[in-house]
Amino acid sequence: MNLELSWSLYQKGALAWLALGLGIFIVLQFKTAPYGRHTRQGWGPLISNRLGWIVMESVVLLVLWFWLWPERHRLSTPAHVMAGLFTFHYINRSFIFPFRTRTKGKKMPLVIALMAVIFNFVNGSLFGIYFSRFENYPLTWLGDIRFLTGIMIFIIGMYINWKADHLLIRLRKPGETGYAIPRGWLFDYVSCPNLLGEMIEWLGYAILTWSLPGLVFFLWTCANLIPRAQAHHRWYQLHFPDYPKERRVFLPYLW
Ligand code: NDP
Repeated sequence: MNLELSWSLYQKGALAWLALGLGIFIVLQFKTAPYGRHTRQGWGPLISNRLGWIVMESVVLLVLWFWLWPERHRLSTPAHVMAGLFTFHYINRSFIFPFRTRTKGKKMPLVIALMAVIFNFVNGSLFGIYFSRFENYPLTWLGDIRFLTGIMIFIIGMYINWKADHLLIRLRKPGETGYAIPRGWLFDYVSCPNLLGEMIEWLGYAILTWSLPGLVFFLWTCANLIPRAQAHHRWYQLHFPDYPKERRVFLPYLW
């Protein structure tokens, strides 16, 4: 691997990846990604839902730290904090969330897990390369208005995401795999506060890092989660005739 990657080449790669994200967003308007409640036949071999989540999400941590570990003594303090926040999020997503979900016996298509592995491989590389080769945050960045605003938004988003995931998981008793209408808290306003929280979180991260990979990752997250929230919302309306009419997709009162 040529480690003398120029900033200009890195930018081109990141923008090409973003263009692909836009393409995926368009495709997802017509085809719903078949995992969770949208799992269906015709997508090839299936693997355990839990194993799928662990494998596909842990890749991003492995790749990020593959790049960061050799450079760890040269990283600025702000870059350490940023890598720490990212790692904290993905430890939950890879190793805690999959063991909290009540999806015993449920499966997901292997091809979806593999696509997510690619997604996480590229994103982990973009952040890993950026932090290990191109960042030069001064220590004062930790007091900069962009860092402070971004970290507040990041923490609010993470709180919404975790709490909403927790409430959804608790809709089932251990051993159950069916669905119920979530009620209370932000669910009174929107169908998918967990997905909204995830997007807020990565918006905050884009602001606190003020970086190209931060922006690209936020837009890719939107490209994945906006169509997924739309699909969830339609699914609820189709399966529950008493689904609250005033509930929006994920922007309270608006959409
Ligand atoms: P969902 O809201 O579909 O599901 C979350 C969990 O709650 C699953 O275990 C699901 O079970 C269960 N659940 C959801 N709704 C109900 C209900 N009405 N009744 C009973 N159980 C329910 O979230 P996703 O699976 O799409 O995503 C999981 C997490 O991963 C989220 O926090 C999301 O933000 C994040 N994510 C991030 C992405 C990114 O690009 N950064 C991409 C995709 C996800 P089941 O699986 O059986 O449906």
